[in-house]
Amino acid sequence: MEHPENDKQYSGLQVNAGVEQPPMVNPYLRRRRRPQLSAADYVEGILKGNTTVLGQAVTLVESLNPAHQAVAQEVIEKCLPFSGRSRRIGITGVPGAGKSTSIDAFGIHILKRGGKLAVLAIDPSSERSRGSILGDKTRMERLAVHPKAFIRPSPSAGSLGGVARKTRETIVLCEAAGYDTVFVETVGVGQSETAVHSMVDFFLLIQVAGTGDELQGIKRGIMEMADGIVVNKADGDNVDRANLAATQFRNALHLFPLGPSGWSPEVLTYSGYFDLNIDKVWEMIDRYFEHVKRSGYFDEKRRQQEKYWMYETINEQLKSHFYNNPEIERLLEQKQQMVLRNEQSSFTAAADVLSRYFALPH
Ligand code: GDP
Repeated sequence: MEHPENDKQYSGLQVNAGVEQPPMVNPYLRRRRRPQLSAADYVEGILKGNTTVLGQAVTLVESLNPAHQAVAQEVIEKCLPFSGRSRRIGITGVPGAGKSTSIDAFGIHILKRGGKLAVLAIDPSSERSRGSILGDKTRMERLAVHPKAFIRPSPSAGSLGGVARKTRETIVLCEAAGYDTVFVETVGVGQSETAVHSMVDFFLLIQVAGTGDELQGIKRGIMEMADGIVVNKADGDNVDRANLAATQFRNALHLFPLGPSGWSPEVLTYSGYFDLNIDKVWEMIDRYFEHVKRSGYFDEKRRQQEKYWMYETINEQLKSHFYNNPEIERLLEQKQQMVLRNEQSSFTAAADVLSRYFALPH
């Protein structure tokens, strides 16, 4: 059957009589709200590996609405017994180092072996920049259309502690949904590495050969956290420089004491864009997991991470309880002005606010 507009009377050169256009917004749509799922529905969907339900549950985890948070916490609790079975890998590097290109290449490489991959991100600056570029699907072209890959950009609301906690909770949901590898991407320039380091088993630092002072570009503390350093863009004319950078990193790593894992971080070169040596990077990561599982460090590190997150959660909730109290908010505003006008010292002002807080009925 022909499309009616193929008829001669519908020439593109002729103006046809217009018809009334339907409204842009379907007037019935508002009444057909998505039915609210119960915690049990979310858990059932997640355990079945339903990515739509998983996505909705992650949105719930990220929501600031207390009613959503209550359901989210119930879902997380119920998913916990099914979590913990993935390899959690943190990936960091300065902007432009090739994180998304590499995650795409690494992801495709491991998905060829089977299993499912979740890519999450932590970008504490994303609230200011309105939306994170980390974990952006359009930058991971092959993974974005891969049925076994679940990609989620950084939660955007809140402090670093809050953003990190949400990502950690999202890991639990992804693991319950059967994702056996989880990448957590972050930018290697600030505080977020510590948060990522405290939720992953292996921490991979992506570097590039550049100006000759490679070690300057990245903070020493981040290098110390790395279980592996990989020099990207080792392709074409860049191969020699990448090898030189790798040697410099190896020499620098010798200066650090061996960490409690007993694993000496390795340095490799590869090309994410041209898919060169990706298998070598993955063999290193496999070797690490074999090592720490054999030595028992794998379980010990996870236990320590649980403890760390217990305190982090307490700190975060205490802070938000304090700062969100309307009376404290008013008093802080007052005291701040007094401190700025030199009418009161910062210590006395802080002591006054805290004693008012402790005297409140809780
Ligand atoms: P990110 O900011 O760390 O996520 O970096 P991107 O993955 O967006 O990459 C930054 C730039 O480096 C892009 O122009 C990439 O095409 C390029 N790039 C990434 N990986 C490679 C590589 O292996 N070789 C080369 N030559 N260029 C690369």
